[in-house]
Amino acid sequence: MIVEIDKGSGFCFGVVNAINKAEEELENGETLYCLGDIVHNSHEVERLNSKGLKIINHEEFAELRNAKVLLRAHGEPPETYQLARKNNITIIDATCPVVLQLQKKIKKVYDEMHKEGVQILIFGKTGHAEVNGLVGQTDANAIVIESIKDLDKVDFNKDITLFSQTTKAIDHFMDIVSEINDRISDDAQFHYYDTICRQVANRMPNIRVFAANHDVILFVSGKKSSNGKALYDECLKVNKNSFLISDETEILPEFFRGAQSVGICGATSTPKWLMEKVEDSVRENI
Ligand code: SF4
Repeated sequence: MIVEIDKGSGFCFGVVNAINKAEEELENGETLYCLGDIVHNSHEVERLNSKGLKIINHEEFAELRNAKVLLRAHGEPPETYQLARKNNITIIDATCPVVLQLQKKIKKVYDEMHKEGVQILIFGKTGHAEVNGLVGQTDANAIVIESIKDLDKVDFNKDITLFSQTTKAIDHFMDIVSEINDRISDDAQFHYYDTICRQVANRMPNIRVFAANHDVILFVSGKKSSNGKALYDECLKVNKNSFLISDETEILPEFFRGAQSVGICGATSTPKWLMEKVEDSVRENI
């Protein structure tokens, strides 16, 4: 049996940066909190937890005083920084530079155009941490578009500027663009910015090639990862024998019936060590 790990899978630079910052701080021995899961992978969260990283939610953050808190790659809205200043919280900002740029761009457009009635649309998942951070740049005025159905909330007689959450699929974003172009009135203007991160977008075609080259695909990802879901869907499109697993304990012998080759891949939040554990388990048991 051939077993291969996809070289293009694993942490993106935004996640590597956040984890490096956390590990640097933890080496000083002080308590370090992280607002939300540092990465959507419970195994990596547990590993960092064992080194002293404490994950907190926004309610717990609001109660904290005089502490050090790491902001993960997804970024945060301005209120988080305001609260930190008020409560003497030291922020270790690990917001991914790509997300930070996008936040700034949205804020600039909002500050310049909102008074003129321009509607800001964000193609993304409602409630996702990154989307909350983006909407926060617009005093919560941006309209989140999850699918074409949500375009019913938009006034097509007024100007529209569209952005995307960094981890969305380009073809879905372009579907939204074309629907807006079809519906917008002749008197209104429409601008859109493809703000999808290429660390993610470039993985889509690559993972399709990888998945098509193996009889069975084990896609290793936390169930909360939206990037994981998008990449797993790409695998399924070209290889029906693709299985989404959190770790090696979810491998079933029936996955491999008649298979000659197994490909192991994962999301931008999947640690390499976890894919290697899956590889070892396949080699030992199949
Ligand atoms: S996927 Fe892109 S934007 Fe998101 S954390 Fe990784 S590098 Fe940054």
